[in-house]
Amino acid sequence: MYEERLDKRQFDELRPIELETGVVPNANGSARFKIGGTEAIAAVYGPAEVKPKHLEKSDQGIIICKYDMMPFSVPDRAKPGIDRRDMEISLVISNALSRAIMLEEFPSSMISVYVYITQADAGTRCASLTAASMACADAGLPMRDLIAAVAVGKIGDSIVADLSKAEEDYEGGATDIPIAFLPSKDEIVLLQLDGEVSKDELKKAIELGRKEANKIYELEKAALKRRFTYESKD
Ligand code: ADP
Repeated sequence: MYEERLDKRQFDELRPIELETGVVPNANGSARFKIGGTEAIAAVYGPAEVKPKHLEKSDQGIIICKYDMMPFSVPDRAKPGIDRRDMEISLVISNALSRAIMLEEFPSSMISVYVYITQADAGTRCASLTAASMACADAGLPMRDLIAAVAVGKIGDSIVADLSKAEEDYEGGATDIPIAFLPSKDEIVLLQLDGEVSKDELKKAIELGRKEANKIYELEKAALKRRFTYESKD
């Protein structure tokens, strides 16, 4: 039984969020997304010439993504360098972004997305996706929609939103279900499952994920509005 959350949040309550764009002056687009103790900074370059050349596609653009956790992002120093987990997360981010960005608009070119985790307290792939899609929007890339992502999970018999690391590790480990939406299309662009759930629980988790993603989506739209309203006053 998991009736009260470790940090006393409601089951459908997200941790406090901060979201801003234009945080990296030297990139074409950038964003910072912080949710509780997890923070992702994303920077986008391009569209640019494809390197290495053999990756080029004549009918559409390609996306490459690099995800990395800073050594100081966790209490026990994350080992510097790219490991298998970083590679997996880089891949799922670029796959999801490929669904959001209109790649057909810039054939034979490449978009590079770099995501750095400065603080990790679970849910970093979801935070990365939200930050990366905001950075792409900030770069002015044509998009079908923004991505809003959140990890939901099962702790005991309870389905909860936005697990902290302590919740992920609670009593032998929660079931972790990171999920990402293109909210206005009601399309899922990432769904992973680490643990066990029944079909009904999975449905409930997806529903909760959709509800929470919509909250993030509203914040994303507001952050972009702030950014472009501010710019137009210059
Ligand atoms: P996600 O961050 O998307 O939830 P994981 O489930 O792989 O992805 O990781 C869960 C959490 O475990 C991370 O958010 C972070 O808090 C912690 N973690 C991951 N890798 C490390 C590491 N190398 N050292 C310490 N903590 C880590």
